[in-house]
Amino acid sequence: MQERTVIVGAGVAGINAATKLIDNNYQGKITIIDMGKDPYNRLPEEVMTGMLGAGGWSDGKLTYHTSIGGQLSKYCGEEKAMELFDQVITNFKRFHPNPSEVQCSDPQAEPDFIKPYFGLRLFPVWHVGTDYLHEIGKNWYDYLKSNGVEFIWETKIEDINFKENYVSWKKGLANVSQYYDKLIFGVGKSGIDFGKKLAEKYDLPTEPKSVQIGVRFEAPQHHFQKLIDVSYDFKLYQKFEDKGVSLRSFCTNNNAAYVAAEHTYGDVSYNGHAKKDEAYRNDMTNFGILMEIKGIDKPFDWSREAVKKLQINEKGTYFSPSKRIPSKTSEGDYVKCVVVDSMDLLYDAIGDHALHIENFIEDMKEVFPTLGNDWGIYMPEVKYLSPEPLVKYDDLSLTRFPNVYFVGDALSARGITVSGAQGTYVAESILKDGK
Ligand SMILES: Cc1cc2nc3c(=O)[nH]c(=O)nc-3n(C[C@H](O)[C@H](O)[C@H](O)COP(=O)(O)OP(=O)(O)OC[C@H]3O[C@@H](n4cnc5c(N)ncnc54)[C@H](O)[C@@H]3O)c2cc1C
Repeated sequence: MQERTVIVGAGVAGINAATKLIDNNYQGKITIIDMGKDPYNRLPEEVMTGMLGAGGWSDGKLTYHTSIGGQLSKYCGEEKAMELFDQVITNFKRFHPNPSEVQCSDPQAEPDFIKPYFGLRLFPVWHVGTDYLHEIGKNWYDYLKSNGVEFIWETKIEDINFKENYVSWKKGLANVSQYYDKLIFGVGKSGIDFGKKLAEKYDLPTEPKSVQIGVRFEAPQHHFQKLIDVSYDFKLYQKFEDKGVSLRSFCTNNNAAYVAAEHTYGDVSYNGHAKKDEAYRNDMTNFGILMEIKGIDKPFDWSREAVKKLQINEKGTYFSPSKRIPSKTSEGDYVKCVVVDSMDLLYDAIGDHALHIENFIEDMKEVFPTLGNDWGIYMPEVKYLSPEPLVKYDDLSLTRFPNVYFVGDALSARGITVSGAQGTYVAESILKDGK
């Protein structure tokens, strides 16, 4: 009987997997099920769900380095990872209405003035062009459909039976199910709760995770202009391998840069975003100073506890040595926080790890001489890393269910290129199996 591969999620990972299978004359039947819409009916504002998933519909910057965008080389090695990246980029060009417009931004040498205090992560990025993504989605969809791929849209998979090999959903009052021989699970960020539910239901073993916590740093932009001219979204980093700690600046915003309070699990933490419209220009820079701490038992509980300690009156906290006042949000209200007069609370929350953050700021004062005390920090910024199911590294199948493959953000990716590459990697192993 013909093998049936079901792909849950028509995101970047699922679509690249299907493309690899089709391109290589896969003899089985491919069914892709997605809760969003096909590219002809998907609206621009439907950012997370539908053909090409999240970033493949609304942004389209393809990072080209294994240290960016999540895990790939840990499974397949550096050389193979780059080869898989190339395949993803080739696909975006191939379905692009004007492929010559896909440009790679050049990496530049690390500027001397940040040494020896920091490393600066520089990496190539392919710019697909946001304006073309919807056309790419349509061309890509037409190719797969015309080669026999079955798509089921606007259908949310509610459950998966890994033991008896079927996925199920509701259609009106009826329960519908679809059998699979192979299942590719690529539900992305919009399916994160579903992934967690399945992991709990089947008690899936997970990879050990690190803690990712820190502060959102904010200062007038002119202090950083010299670096922004080299790298707009600069990524400074410091590593202390003996201590299992590394720090990086994360998600830098400039020009019209705003800090935003996020509410997660009932607590407030901070993030940042930039506006494009000149009317919002405030000439500020903000970025996370995020610390990755390895080896902490129960990292999720540890982070939750630390975040709680940084709350006062149901708000996060803000400190500025020069008594800068907190900024306003893009809506014109002050960022929700309580002003404190030292970093003591940070030490209470994360212990001596706070010293790394303090030192990171001190080092920035060396590198950016005008900075001085002209800054403030919103505490905390936190990334709760979802559990990453343990997979076999040679094909990304679950260690307990060898015909179920996790890919993309549902596994360990955080970007388009890595997600697509993971999908391609799985498809390659399915093709090998069929031989
Ligand atoms: C606004 C935005 C901009 C971004 N820009 C970039 C960028 O420029 N560069 C970059 O590298 N990364 C970017 N990213 C991140 C990137 O988009 C993701 O890492 C990538 O899309 C993940 O691919 P994926 O296939 O794992 O999941 P996704 O692309 O998110 O696709 C998952 C699909 O699964 C479907 N789904 C979820 N749950 C179910 C269910 N239960 N049943 C059926 N279907 C389901 C969803 O509808 C969705 O279509 C961006 C993300 C966002 C949100």
